[in-house]
Amino acid sequence: MKCFERALSAGFSVPILSTGREHAAAETLKLDGSLVAENIREQCIRLVKGRVLPKLVVVIVGNDPASQVYVRNKEASFAKVGFASEVIRFSEFSNQSEVEVAISALAVDPSVHGILVQMPLPKGFNAPKILSFVPPSKDVDGYHAVNLGLLCAQDWTGFLPCTPLGVMVLLQAYGVAFLGAHACVVGRSNTVGKPQGLLLLGEDCTVTLAHSKSTDLASITQQADILVAAAGKPGLIGREHVKKGAVVVDVGIHQNPNGKGLVGDVRSAALEGWAKAVSPVPGGVGPMTIAMLLMNTALGAWDPS
Ligand code: NAD
Repeated sequence: MKCFERALSAGFSVPILSTGREHAAAETLKLDGSLVAENIREQCIRLVKGRVLPKLVVVIVGNDPASQVYVRNKEASFAKVGFASEVIRFSEFSNQSEVEVAISALAVDPSVHGILVQMPLPKGFNAPKILSFVPPSKDVDGYHAVNLGLLCAQDWTGFLPCTPLGVMVLLQAYGVAFLGAHACVVGRSNTVGKPQGLLLLGEDCTVTLAHSKSTDLASITQQADILVAAAGKPGLIGREHVKKGAVVVDVGIHQNPNGKGLVGDVRSAALEGWAKAVSPVPGGVGPMTIAMLLMNTALGAWDPS
C-alpha cells in the first residue's frame, strides 16, 4: 500500500488480521480498529529501542470541553507507549500572535518532532494562518498545505492525515482489495473526506466523493464496494445506501442522542448479514486515528524528511 511506504521504511508493518476470504459470507465481519491500533502501539514500543524518543507538542487554545478530552486522550496514548508529549495551553483571551510565536519556537526546537494545533480554535483566530507556522516536517496531522499538496500529487513522502490513513490501514489489515474497487466517500472535508478520496485513488480504486449537495445519495453509495461514511450525521447511512457485500467504514462519531455512549454515521445493526464488513463506533476509526498520530510522530523523529 503506497500510503504506508514511508512507515514501512521506518520498520512499521500493517498487521494482517484477515485475508478477506476466510470468514463466512453470511456473517458481517467487524473491522476492529482497537485490535489493529493495539498492534501499531506494540510496534511503537518495540521500534523505539535505540532510537530518538519521539516527542509531540499539542497546542490548545480556549476551553472547548470536547477538545480537552481529545487532548487528554492523546497525552495518555503517548504515555502508554513511552513517547514524550507536552501540552501548551493558551486561554481564549490570548491573541493570534502569542500562539504564532509559540509555534515558531517549536518549529526550530530539535527535540520536538510533531506539532499538533487542536481544532477548533476560538472565534477570532485565523486557523489557516496559525497552521502555516507548523513546518511541514513536523505537521504530524498532515493538514499543512504542503503535505496536502504532496498527497494530491500522489507523492507519498509527506505526512498523511491521521484519520484517512487509519481507515486505509484498517482496510488493509482485513484484506480488503483496493485495485479497481469502486470506493465512495460520503463527505468532502479537508481533514477527512478529500484526503480519504485521494488515498483510495492512490490504491487504484475508482473514487466517488458524495457530499451535502449530492442528489439521491443512496443511488451513489449503492454502487460502492467500499463505502466510507464521513458526513458527521448520526445514522445517515442505512441498508438502503449499501450494496450487498460491500465493506463499510464509519468515520462519524457522535454522542448517542438517545442515551449514553457513542454512535456513528452508519446504522450498523441494519447492515448485519448484508454488508461484508463494518467498522464499529466506538472501537473502529477512533483508535486508528490515535495510532496513526503515534506512528506519524515516530516517523518525524526517525525519518525527518
Ligand atoms: P465536516 O463537518 O467538516 O464535513 C462533513 C462532510 O459531510 C461535508 O463535506 C458535507 O458536505 C458532508 N455531508 C454532510 N451532510 C451530508 C449528507 N446529508 N449527505 C452527504 N454528505 C453530507 O466533518 P469532518 O471533520 O469531515 O468529520 C466527519 C465526521 O467524522 C464527524 O462525525 C467527525 O466527528 C468524525 N471524525 C471522526 C474522527 C475519528 O477519529 N473517528 C476523526 C475526524 C472526524
